[in-house]
Amino acid sequence: MPLPKSKTAGPPRGKPRVPPKLELCGGCRQFVQSETNFCPWCGAEVQALAREYAEKLEAARRTALHIERLLRELRR
Ligand SMILES: [Zn+2]
Repeated sequence: MPLPKSKTAGPPRGKPRVPPKLELCGGCRQFVQSETNFCPWCGAEVQALAREYAEKLEAARRTALHIERLLRELRR
């Protein structure tokens, strides 16, 4: 089914708009633009909190793998 004429008439409008990339602030869980240094909502240093979060997540993953290995050894 073709689009109504009003949607296709007129010159092209240029490049399609791309929404800004957002990420969550680790301090207040509000969305902030990805290049933001300091959260406009709570003032936290966004990239430092993101690094801290990634380190904690990696430590949790290592711990989970360790527990999994220990449980496998118990079953033998
Ligand atoms: Zn914040």
